[in-house]
Amino acid sequence: MLQIRELLGKIDAEIPFSKAESWDNVGLLIGDMSSEVTGILTTLDCTLEVVQEAVAKHCNTIIAHHPLIFSGIKRIENKGYGAVIHALIKNDIQLIAMHTNLDAYDRGVSAMIADKIGLTKQQILLPAEREMAKLQIFVPHEHAEPLKRALAEAGVGRIGDYSDCFFQLEGQGQFRPNESASPYIGTSNQLEVVDEIKLECVFEPHLQQQVEATIHTAHPYEEPAYDIYRFKVTDQFGTGIRGELETGIKAEEWLLHVKEQLGIQTLRIIGDSSKMISTVGIISGAGVSYMKEVAATGVDLFLTGDIKYHEAHDLLMTGLLTADIEHYSEQVMIAGLKDLLQSFGCTQVEASEHATHPFKAI
Ligand SMILES: [Zn+2]
Repeated sequence: MLQIRELLGKIDAEIPFSKAESWDNVGLLIGDMSSEVTGILTTLDCTLEVVQEAVAKHCNTIIAHHPLIFSGIKRIENKGYGAVIHALIKNDIQLIAMHTNLDAYDRGVSAMIADKIGLTKQQILLPAEREMAKLQIFVPHEHAEPLKRALAEAGVGRIGDYSDCFFQLEGQGQFRPNESASPYIGTSNQLEVVDEIKLECVFEPHLQQQVEATIHTAHPYEEPAYDIYRFKVTDQFGTGIRGELETGIKAEEWLLHVKEQLGIQTLRIIGDSSKMISTVGIISGAGVSYMKEVAATGVDLFLTGDIKYHEAHDLLMTGLLTADIEHYSEQVMIAGLKDLLQSFGCTQVEASEHATHPFKAI
């Protein structure tokens, strides 16, 4: 049977918890890493009713999108949110949060909404950037292969699904050792010219210490010559999803379909809804703070939730046609996450049947 630790490892390999925003609180919030998973219940919010549902369905693990615990708990009384924590611990149920890491994933919550409303040609709306490190190092011919092997073992030269990625060029290096040097090649005070290989390769910046230690162990020279520099690449993770409609359609006409597909109580439109649209940007949850970046992508329509009065005026000024699809449209992740987890090889996954919409429309 799968332990919680192994389940988190499986998730992390696809949807790294490190991709969550710094203010977020994701991963195992309540529970025991060594517990064995009897069943997983996916939900948008972890309420008392959802805990009861997990007990009834013999699921000892709940995976919620919204973190139950955000920060600084002062007391856990058996009331309010405390009652939920109580119920989880009493029933030996683990609670995992997959929040902004799931948002940043290209098959995450925005993509699940895009699937539900039929958008094609989906891609990340606002791709994130991430830092990489590049090493260039000069090594005598006969030591190039052993050095490459040692560097590869230290995690250098991995690009996506490829490992051992190196570029090399032949050339000549020169140096003059002084009296106190103990050179591997050459003699004191004499200029030495050596046939060398220049290797170029990339690595994850967090490996730098390990990489430099490997260089000093695997390189024959007393003072290996190398440079390490950082650069930015476009990440495969980011914010929101953009997609296309099969054919151009009047916004208000298509939004009626969106309202029905997402089960939205009230759909509010900001801007000229008679406009013809064919490209759509979605940021699940509350994404209006990205309005300028979204407008710059050139999408015809922006879908997000939780838009306030003054933000709606800002959107009018920006000229970005927007529809408030309510934060609760994220409920598509309940079934969507179940499918994802199953595609990662998890079994006994159930989607919560409990609606956690806090609003009731009359
Ligand atoms: Zn949300």
